[in-house]
Amino acid sequence: MYRLGIDLGGTKIEAILLDENCNAIQRKRILTPQNNYHKILNAIHLLVSDFLANIECSSIGICTPGAISKKTGLIKNSNTQCLIGKPFKEDLEKKLNRKISMENDANCFAIAESMMGITKEFDIVFGVIMGTGVGGGIVINKKIIQGRTNIAGEWGHHTLHQNGNNCYCGKNGCVETYISGPALEKRWKDLTGKSQKIPEIIQNLETSQAKQWKTEFLQNFGFGLANVIDILDPDAIVLGGGLSNIDFLYTEGKDSVYEKVFSDLVDTPILKNKLGDSAGVFGAALL
Ligand SMILES: [Zn+2]
Repeated sequence: MYRLGIDLGGTKIEAILLDENCNAIQRKRILTPQNNYHKILNAIHLLVSDFLANIECSSIGICTPGAISKKTGLIKNSNTQCLIGKPFKEDLEKKLNRKISMENDANCFAIAESMMGITKEFDIVFGVIMGTGVGGGIVINKKIIQGRTNIAGEWGHHTLHQNGNNCYCGKNGCVETYISGPALEKRWKDLTGKSQKIPEIIQNLETSQAKQWKTEFLQNFGFGLANVIDILDPDAIVLGGGLSNIDFLYTEGKDSVYEKVFSDLVDTPILKNKLGDSAGVFGAALL
């Protein structure tokens, strides 16, 4: 049977149809309608109708920015802000006239890498998204662990520095306010006076300010993930999102994590994803 996956992103909506062996047999991308909830619903409806015009599929999964509140059924913590507070899953099910599955992007990433990507061989996997925000998803024996209130894996809002940077979540010093792309670029600007993007910043890290920037980054990355290992002790950690392209996270970053873990033996593989930007849409199809 076929499975349909849809990845709703801030700029594009991607759909993929997988056959029973997880081969992609059809793919399509459209632009995300901006700031308009009903246009997003209609765009997904059209996309699904297009795919299902001639075939049947056993499941439809949607990868969304944000999580569904177990208390209200409404979307929360989403950077696509017109979704916040909306019964997105319920509205889509009404429109499509069938049941769907829905998960946030970190969970879709973690399941996709665990079923088809770099962490296929591992039982307990922690999937990390480091980009505009910092998120995480836990997969155990190929199953997403949502947790009692749908927040399992959200290491991005662990407190790293008690009186630290303000976070949109209402707390101070969250991991996300130090090692997300925007946070790192802001810190770079504070230290050097330059407005630069991460790929440009990491080209040259020789000045004393640049070294300070990198040391702080490695320390925060190390403490953040060491806390995760102390709780979950996963068989592997896989990095995704734009910052997963930073090579030193897999060498010096890994060392920084290892030296902070509470154990005499630390050898948790910290791996670069295999599916790249496609993890979200594959993960959605696998829900
Ligand atoms: Zn926070």
